[in-house]
Amino acid sequence: MIRASELLGGGRFGVIVHGGAGDVGGERVERHVAGCRAAARLAAEELAAGASALDAVVRAVIALEDDPVFNAGTGACLTTAGSVELDAAVMSGEDLRAGGVCALGPFKNPIAIAREVLQEGRHVLYAADGADAFAQARGFPPVDPATLITEAARDKLASALGRGEPEPWAGGTVGAVARDLRGHVAAATSTGGMSGKRPGRVGDSPIPGAGTYADDRGGAASATGHGEGILRVALTAGLIEALRRGDDPQAASRAAIEELALRVGSTGGVIAIDARGRIGLARSTNTMTWAAAWEGGETAGA
Ligand code: ASP
Repeated sequence: MIRASELLGGGRFGVIVHGGAGDVGGERVERHVAGCRAAARLAAEELAAGASALDAVVRAVIALEDDPVFNAGTGACLTTAGSVELDAAVMSGEDLRAGGVCALGPFKNPIAIAREVLQEGRHVLYAADGADAFAQARGFPPVDPATLITEAARDKLASALGRGEPEPWAGGTVGAVARDLRGHVAAATSTGGMSGKRPGRVGDSPIPGAGTYADDRGGAASATGHGEGILRVALTAGLIEALRRGDDPQAASRAAIEELALRVGSTGGVIAIDARGRIGLARSTNTMTWAAAWEGGETAGA
């Protein structure tokens, strides 16, 4: 766990990504951290070359969605019916534009579709069949679900069904927050949700102020963990309000995760960046893999 004395970031640009709160055991941790590191580096290279925070967080999340070890895009966890239903959202702190999809069918990169929702601008969030129709109308072809479903996802579903209840959550949700050279922030989150969730269940990730939020007046945050709890405390809305008041992102992240435990008894994790590029993260789970890269530094952990 990062201490307040080890503040990260603070350069003209910066990014932090997470690979989900949960309990990634033994040798899998390194693989998870490597995936996060690769995604953070990709985003940081783009930021250094002048890309917007919005483009950088989408770039990072696409890389994580394409990595089958994470519960997003390829590798997403399954509903009780054995199907994938994907949730993703992206938000721009510059103008509070947001775009999201939830209970989306089998598409390779839900975050790219969320980005398209933001870009088009008519609505903020599309669900289920309507989300699939929007995606196809905007040129995203659905894929064979078999290309997204991994053996690990099938195993997790089998154990959830065996217990007769969903896992607290699947772990492996992905998210990214960034500040660009112009001082704008953005946040993105993508997930398959929970193993053994009921069809139609939507978690916190695609909901602005719950799993994802960005506002240049404070900063940007992406949450992970028990979605029902994160929704009930509006976790990223509270965290960004603390950043608007001037709290540092590390203290604000820790307070948000404490609040999640105190108010609704849920566990999870969060990453944050403020408008000055300072980075924070906190978790109450055994692990939350992450990686950060900023002007002049990078680091990663679990
Ligand atoms: N928060 C996600 C959800 O409940 C799951 C996770 O972060 O692992 O859908």
